[in-house]
Amino acid sequence: MPVHNVLETLVRTVLDEAFVKPSRLPCACPRCLDDIMALALSRLPPRYVATDAGTLYVKAAYMHPQLQLDVYQELLRAAEVVAAHPHHGPEAGAGTPDGQAAGDAAQSPDGSP
Ligand SMILES: [Zn+2]
Repeated sequence: MPVHNVLETLVRTVLDEAFVKPSRLPCACPRCLDDIMALALSRLPPRYVATDAGTLYVKAAYMHPQLQLDVYQELLRAAEVVAAHPHHGPEAGAGTPDGQAAGDAAQSPDGSP
């Protein structure tokens, strides 16, 4: 992996430790977790590393209380947004076919090019 945003690792770690494990999320399915991560990462400054030293960098960054707090607060905000507007609707579990084959139909029944 040539370039990596260590904030991504940090956000995922904090999300897991502070929200998922204590079961503080109304829904912790992969889709909601991805949405929360994307929202939080969009609001946090990226930190890119280019070598394996990135692992050490993450550990160092994780020890900064202010950075931890920033990540935590953005995750909290993102979790509220996703909880209020989940992509899969209020009932978690079964996927809803929202927007499926709405606009761009891949196959037309008449078969004309
Ligand atoms: Zn969900």
